[in-house]
Amino acid sequence: MHRATKIVATIGPASSDLDTLTRMILAGVDVVRLNFSHGSAQDHIDRATLIREAASKCGREVAIMADLQGPKIRVGKFENGKVQLVKGAPFILDSDCPLGNDERVGLDYKQLPRDLKPADVLLLNDGLIVLTVDRVIGNAIHTTVKIGGELSNNKGINRQGGGLTAPALSAKDMDDIKTAMAFQADYLAVSFPKCATDMVMARQLANIAGEAFHHKPLLIAKIERAEAIPALQEILDASDGIMVARGDLAVEVGNAAVPALQKRMIKMARASNKLAITATQMMESMIFNAVPTRAEVSDVANAVLDGTDAVMTSAETATGKYPVETVETMASVCLEAEKYESYKLDADFLNVTFNRIDESIAYGALFTAYHLRVKAIAALTESGSTALWMSRHNIDIPIYALTPSKATERKAALYRNVDTFGLAQTNDREEVLKAAQDLLLAKGVVQKGDRIVVTWGEPMGQTGGTNALKIMTIGEY
Ligand code: PGA
Ligand code: MN
Repeated sequence: MHRATKIVATIGPASSDLDTLTRMILAGVDVVRLNFSHGSAQDHIDRATLIREAASKCGREVAIMADLQGPKIRVGKFENGKVQLVKGAPFILDSDCPLGNDERVGLDYKQLPRDLKPADVLLLNDGLIVLTVDRVIGNAIHTTVKIGGELSNNKGINRQGGGLTAPALSAKDMDDIKTAMAFQADYLAVSFPKCATDMVMARQLANIAGEAFHHKPLLIAKIERAEAIPALQEILDASDGIMVARGDLAVEVGNAAVPALQKRMIKMARASNKLAITATQMMESMIFNAVPTRAEVSDVANAVLDGTDAVMTSAETATGKYPVETVETMASVCLEAEKYESYKLDADFLNVTFNRIDESIAYGALFTAYHLRVKAIAALTESGSTALWMSRHNIDIPIYALTPSKATERKAALYRNVDTFGLAQTNDREEVLKAAQDLLLAKGVVQKGDRIVVTWGEPMGQTGGTNALKIMTIGEY
């Protein structure tokens, strides 16, 4: 069956061997995420090699997403690795403290005391521990424990409501961009951007680092700061897509606000012709169990109904006991949820205006395909942008991006409802159309007599705008 929603899987110690990765790809992984918050540069380089190897074993193009750590603010280390914080007790976050104990702990972002004032609420360890600020004296933040618990080395700190000034790209992130471009990561995810400038800066660094390899990644803005919400449109405009990064976002804006924000973000991304990934805790209980909870199944299904391009796993596949089962389960939940989709394509066509020829052809192809009820849409494309435009609308017809570019094949692995196949494109139109027909037949996605809509750009064999559309009957060539 044709699954429209894509799966992004984070890999880690539980999934960094060829056998597990291969089984995960066969189970439905489209994009593999390398989390630069953990591991050395060499670990990521080795994993990238392994991913390419597993993908080629499966005969698939799988994208690699390098996810930068970003300026996550963390406590330092403790003498004994961890402490127990008790409700009502005082606790100090101190930039000058080298090794923590029951009374105080150090900070990796030395400027944090300057960002805080009395009555601010700090959430540690993804919100499991809550501190309120009493006063700031020099480099020491004096707090009272509101919700206690175990606090261990290097746990994250968020301020309720956001407003921390750490810049989006740290020195480590800048080094990591170079590492990721050296193995040509298809996607670069930027953590904690606050505005378009953060994304522009990341893109400049990535394009410079990728230049030697003629490589330009697509950029994903992780929406996980309170400030990013009012700036969403400008961030979208400066990015290729967003991640609904529900972990940190929930800590900053409150858990309850996240589901409605998820719906709004996905809708805005699609309306802006950008990609959307829904992330964090989707199948959380599968870290330990071979089956998810009913609530997790509904969460994945609802993200599909919201129109997300992809659902993502984190610890489930990075450190969990059931990485392959998690992917299998997600794939089947997506397939079932897609059956429900209500098709509102006609409504999408009201009040649209465009000034680009290629974009008009993309719309024309959708409209024609939908009303003629053809079997498939084939977009002959160099950059993949025609397929991207088409995939921003709900249509119950698979879109095939046929491209001579391996880089485009990998990038399009994330686009909802788009499957890609490699196709050499010459400047002979009839020859290419016949090759496209034979390829779709060979892949078993169409049969003799099926009608399909094909789009391409003339003159052929050049990068340039799509400007032609044809309704073709398979077997015609
Ligand atoms: P992370 O981002 O896994 O890198 O923290 C996702 C999130 O915050 O939800
Ligand atoms: Mn995060």
